[in-house]
Amino acid sequence: MRYPNRILRSVAGILVFSALSCGKETKIPVTDAGYVTAPATVSTTASPASSSSSSSSAGASSASNTQNSTPFYDVSVANPDDGTPYTGCCKTQNVIIIVMDGPRFSETFGDYSKQYIPEESRLYTRGVLLGRFYNNGTTNTDSGHDAICTGNYENLENTGQVLPLYPSIFQQYLKATGKPSEKAWVVASKDKLQILGNCQTLGWADKYMPRTDCGKNGLFSGYRNDDTTFQHAKNVLNTYHPNLMLINFKDVDVRGHSNLWGQYLTAIKKTDEYIKALYDMIEADPIYKGKTTVIITNDHGRHLNSVADGFINHGDDCEGCRHITFLALGPDFKQGVGVDQHFEQIDISATVAKLLNFTMDYGKGKVIDPIFR
Ligand SMILES: [Zn+2]
Ligand SMILES: [Zn+2]
Repeated sequence: MRYPNRILRSVAGILVFSALSCGKETKIPVTDAGYVTAPATVSTTASPASSSSSSSSAGASSASNTQNSTPFYDVSVANPDDGTPYTGCCKTQNVIIIVMDGPRFSETFGDYSKQYIPEESRLYTRGVLLGRFYNNGTTNTDSGHDAICTGNYENLENTGQVLPLYPSIFQQYLKATGKPSEKAWVVASKDKLQILGNCQTLGWADKYMPRTDCGKNGLFSGYRNDDTTFQHAKNVLNTYHPNLMLINFKDVDVRGHSNLWGQYLTAIKKTDEYIKALYDMIEADPIYKGKTTVIITNDHGRHLNSVADGFINHGDDCEGCRHITFLALGPDFKQGVGVDQHFEQIDISATVAKLLNFTMDYGKGKVIDPIFR
């Protein structure tokens, strides 16, 4: 039901074009070894419902569409990297999720120029981008992060007073692996995101909890600067080498709420730089290199200009609030490819569970299969 029908395709045409155009743009400076051998296109192999005419432009112009005639969902298909049977998943042993809090898609990958996210735009040549990725639940910070981490849409009170109902990827991972809490972390500029470390479900509440480092000094201590979060995130990565981590940067959202358009855009650029620096650090770390997935996403967008007070706020179901970024980089994913199928925020947890080989007992999302190679 999420596959594009005729109406969806035409309505989303401009967005798809934008996403797919990313693929075209990345052709020119192709020197990355990884990209040269990248699969042709997701759309032609992933979904017969996808537009084959547009999908052919998503892939590398030098690549053919014949690289994979096997149904994408067949896990027995050979891994194109080394020929070993692809019996499941994965090379990934670590997943780092970076959340830029609350930019609109129209200022990130929906902007043809990518002028505010030059670093992510370059990273895209090594990753896979979903052109139509949505928060289909409550488009606020706590609910959005809850959806990312638990695979459930809940209409959470948004100041940190209420825990998510269901266990998160962190709790499920720590329980499944028996690893110590320091192998899973939530590092956030917003103190209220400490709720991501726990849940209400009997048997899970107060158990298998990850480490949290949120706000000035934990829940109800207030927000802290993104630069502090950036430094803390680096320290945690270097010190503990967590297998699973979420990092939240708040400034984009805060500047938006302050009705400071210029500072909102500047915050997007600054967060873009943090993301690149963290990615580079991870790739330079022998413990992480080649076995770490980085997912770059948002908790929500912001109103379209034509809705309420425009970019200043968010929280309803308008396209601006719902449409968000999903860019993923890792050893198990395609590279330099845009996917035009419709996926949503709760699908992240199912995908992370597949990557790290545990089950999400309560998650409602599905694995984002077309991003895997
Ligand atoms: Zn937010
Ligand atoms: Zn809205």
